Amino acid sequence: MSGRFDRGNLEDIFGKTDGYCRYCGKQLAWNNYGRVGDRGAWEVDHSIPISRGGTDYLRNLWPACVGCNTEKGTLTGSEYQRSLSGVRSRRSSSDIGDVIGGIVIAGLALAFLGALFKRPDSRFP
Ligand SMILES: [Zn+2]
Repeated sequence: MSGRFDRGNLEDIFGKTDGYCRYCGKQLAWNNYGRVGDRGAWEVDHSIPISRGGTDYLRNLWPACVGCNTEKGTLTGSEYQRSLSGVRSRRSSSDIGDVIGGIVIAGLALAFLGALFKRPDSRFP
């Protein structure tokens, strides 16, 4: 998707929300447009996806974090917002928050197991 918009377009889009993800409200980093994996990375979201008849006009374009834009897929903006506030069991496996939560829990479990198995080393008094 990068290269599709020039800097002026991107400034207009970014400014629509003052630089926050339209969906989750996360603050976005202007310099990290399209830089998937970087802090505050963002993409241009087509509220109505191109595949569903959406346009490249500003009124259809919003800044969104990579996680939201990826999860939104081919939903429209309002469909995705509904899915965020309503039942999301079918989509929960791809939810970035759940993934991060899982990593944190796994990390805590590992730390706990590590502490459990760590014994004082008698060879070095
Ligand atoms: Zn977001």
